[in-house]
Amino acid sequence: MRTYQKIMVAVDLSSESEAVLAKAHQIAGPDADIYLVYVQEPMDNIYVGIVPQSAAFSGLGELESRLSEELKHKLTMLGEKFNVPADHLHVLNGSPASEIHRFASENHVQLIVIGTHGRKGFQLLLGSTANAVLHGAACDVLAVRIGTAQ
Ligand code: AMP
Repeated sequence: MRTYQKIMVAVDLSSESEAVLAKAHQIAGPDADIYLVYVQEPMDNIYVGIVPQSAAFSGLGELESRLSEELKHKLTMLGEKFNVPADHLHVLNGSPASEIHRFASENHVQLIVIGTHGRKGFQLLLGSTANAVLHGAACDVLAVRIGTAQ
C-alpha cells in the first residue's frame, strides 16, 4: 500500500501538540511532505457579541501582530524538533476548521492529522475543532487521541 505523501498536521500549540506531530512523523514515509499548521483566530471573532465593540477592539491589531510573532516562534521551535522545513510551517488566520480545510485542498493534502480529547455525550454535542475538521474534510483524517498518543 502506498503511504501518504502529503500530510498536514494541525496543532493548537498546546503542550499536546508534540504528541500529535510525533504520531504523524511515525506514520509518514521517508519521502513524505509534512506541513505543520496553526490557525490564529481573530480576537474580534472571539469577543464579538460579548463586550461592547469600542471598549474591546481598540489596540487589538497591535496585540494580534505581537501574538502572531510569538505563535510563529512556537511553531518554529516545534517544527525544528521534528525536522519540518521552514517553508512547511504555516500560521494562518481565520476560523480553525475552515482554514484547515482550505489549506488541505489548496495543497492537495492526502491526510490531515489532528488531536482529539475523545469527548463524549454532552461535550460531543457542543462540538470541537477535531469534530469540525473531520466532518468537512475532503481527504483522510487521523484523530490522535490525546493522553494515549504515541
Ligand atoms: P479541540 O477540539 O479544540 O480541543 O482541538 C483538537 C485539535 O484540533 C487540536 O489538537 C489540533 O490538532 C486542532 N486544533 C485546534 N485548534 C487549532 C488551531 N487554532 N489551529 C490548528 N489546529 C487546531
